[in-house]
Amino acid sequence: TAPASGAQVGGPDISEAFTRFDRQPGYQQVHLMQEGAERFGVKSPFFHVHQGTAGAHSAIEGRRVINFGSYNYLGLSGHPEVNAAAQAAIAQYGSSVSASRIVAGERPLHRQLEKALADFYGVDDALTFVSGHATNVTTIGHLLGARDLILHDEYAHNSIVQGALLSGAQRLTFPHNDLNALETLLRQQRRKAERVLIVVEGMYSMDGDFPDLPRLINLKKKHQAWLMVDEAHSFGVVGATGRGIAEHFSVNTHDVDIWMGTLSKTLAACGGYIAGEQALIDNLRYLAPGFLYSVGLAPPLAAAALTALTILQKEPDRVHTLQERGQYFLEEAKRQQMDTGFSAGYAITPLIIGSSLQAVRLSSQLLEQGVHVQPILYPAVPEKQARLRFFLNVEHSPEELRDSLVMLKAYAS
Ligand code: PMP
Repeated sequence: TAPASGAQVGGPDISEAFTRFDRQPGYQQVHLMQEGAERFGVKSPFFHVHQGTAGAHSAIEGRRVINFGSYNYLGLSGHPEVNAAAQAAIAQYGSSVSASRIVAGERPLHRQLEKALADFYGVDDALTFVSGHATNVTTIGHLLGARDLILHDEYAHNSIVQGALLSGAQRLTFPHNDLNALETLLRQQRRKAERVLIVVEGMYSMDGDFPDLPRLINLKKKHQAWLMVDEAHSFGVVGATGRGIAEHFSVNTHDVDIWMGTLSKTLAACGGYIAGEQALIDNLRYLAPGFLYSVGLAPPLAAAALTALTILQKEPDRVHTLQERGQYFLEEAKRQQMDTGFSAGYAITPLIIGSSLQAVRLSSQLLEQGVHVQPILYPAVPEKQARLRFFLNVEHSPEELRDSLVMLKAYAS
């Protein structure tokens, strides 16, 4: 190999692959993608700037659009009461707590929010973290170790995978929602490990479907494993009053060992939580690195999430209406013979397009017509399954849903 440019005379002969950022893996791919988009005359669908609150509608490049790109499911980000609570919290506590909670960062809002989340689930306690992604990484990474086994759905969110990698546990995946395959893995592997953690989602973010929770509970009890459910997209969306997948299946929340969720979707803020029994929460509160060595949740975010949770409970109609819209959208899409994948017709429905280029092209054409929907491409979804992913919002009207589908159909055929 040639000496690295700028190599010091007499210094070691190190390949540029190990010294230059523009030689790092993935960088060339990003470049190729940008060039490809230019060559095919499509605008990049990424990093669009939204100029206001992103709800059922948004403003992109100065134009008002119908927005299907944001997971503001119940329209609570931008809600006047939520905004007012965030502003009041800033006035009282400032914008940051300026320390980890265990030292000087604890504020009344933290425990109020955690108590409210625990009550909502009907479990002992809850703990909040500054990011949903970090919640999974640090919780899974901290609780499991090298002699343990993690079994998760192949479509599990990146934060679950990262947590599993950090833990050093053996990590095995099972095909999407295939609980027979999970059972086989448990039968073959359970005895070889100490702790076993099964991780699933209450609503899969790329597909809009969910697993058979009662069966998962039977499996985890039979094989003495822990069950963790990530409710990022099911909290406030699934179940008659938005209490998530446990409510949908009428199961006891105590039968799931670790409830996880984010504050960034229905709860209109930013951050994550774990809810469950006291010993779990105390363990994380005193020991989980992503909690202990990170700042406490910012006051405006804690206040926003707490107020959003209060509104969710006061106004269950929001959940009901969102569910009606979700079913309507799914039925309309099917009626127009679109491929809706596994969607169960809640707040997420993907329309599977196939080729990445076609998905990007369609999203760009729709945006020109005032409809914003994000294309989701490999590696976020399997190759050849590029899709337009629709996030619904309670404030989308049935006409907007139907008209957007009709427009898409016209461009797609
Ligand atoms: N879990 C799932 C299933 C998610 O979809 C996401 C992000 N959308 C996260 C965790 C991470 O949450 P956050 O974006 O709030 O960090």
